[in-house]
Amino acid sequence: MLVYHLPGTLETREHDLDLLWEAGATGLEERAGVIRAYFEARTELPAALADGEWREEADQDWQAEFRRTLRPVVAGRITIVAPWQREEVTAGQTPLVIEPGMAFGTGHHATTRLAVEALSELGLEALGPGGQGARVLDVGTGSGVLAIAAALLGARFAFGVDIDPITIPIARENAEINGVPAGRVRFEEGTLGLGQVGEGQDALTFPEEGVDAYDVLVANLYAELHDLLAGDYAEHLVPGGVLVLTGILTVKLPLVRAALAREGFGDVQETVDGEWARVTARA
Ligand code: SAM
Repeated sequence: MLVYHLPGTLETREHDLDLLWEAGATGLEERAGVIRAYFEARTELPAALADGEWREEADQDWQAEFRRTLRPVVAGRITIVAPWQREEVTAGQTPLVIEPGMAFGTGHHATTRLAVEALSELGLEALGPGGQGARVLDVGTGSGVLAIAAALLGARFAFGVDIDPITIPIARENAEINGVPAGRVRFEEGTLGLGQVGEGQDALTFPEEGVDAYDVLVANLYAELHDLLAGDYAEHLVPGGVLVLTGILTVKLPLVRAALAREGFGDVQETVDGEWARVTARA
């Protein structure tokens, strides 16, 4: 069994966990101040992970270990769990089941948790035309976690887009696992803004005839991309619509603040969790 030992904990090296998944790790766990990343084969790792070392270890049931160490994530009214943890959701909480390790968005990253908490606080069920539920756009949907959370929290419909085509079938499967009816959530490959549409990709299409502006737009990306897309965010929100941005390192907050001011957003509010920040604003 091949294990990459990385000094630190799942918390202190939260921002490196995606790099390990992206490099092909099949499981991650933490033991005695060391992150253990399981791999099928040795692979080149990014420089940020260079302080670790490869070790061949005797085989063990790492799947069982991984399942044992993974914890449910409480985010507002939602508890995000793996399929085998449904029973751990406490009364009054809405379970959101995500199969870990398939696409970004298991809830274990602070950026996802911050976004779900914001969606939970918005009262999505009473927003939108006639107070019949918000129309939500999730840019960079990954596992679909935010669009699915929105649907479970009472959105009329949620539309998730991602430039990575691999994520779309995973997000659709997660919606099905969570029993969200097809009409309430939709996932398509795509992004905002013509400048962001890759070769061979169509510009974004919208799920309802004539609807190209949303009551809520949520995006867990990164500060530089929020800066680039801020004008598109404004275009795709109804007047007074709510923007929820995460994936922002606190040191990059000034960039996002300036972009939102430039595009005329108001009521800007910031929430910090460790090195990560969430910014909400109104169009
Ligand atoms: N929404 C999930 C969550 O909150 O956990 C996943 C967020 S993950 C940090 C960012 C996702 O955005 C990735 O799946 C990536 O493929 C996608 N992405 C990156 N750049 C994008 C862009 N310009 N437009 C749409 N999606 C993008």
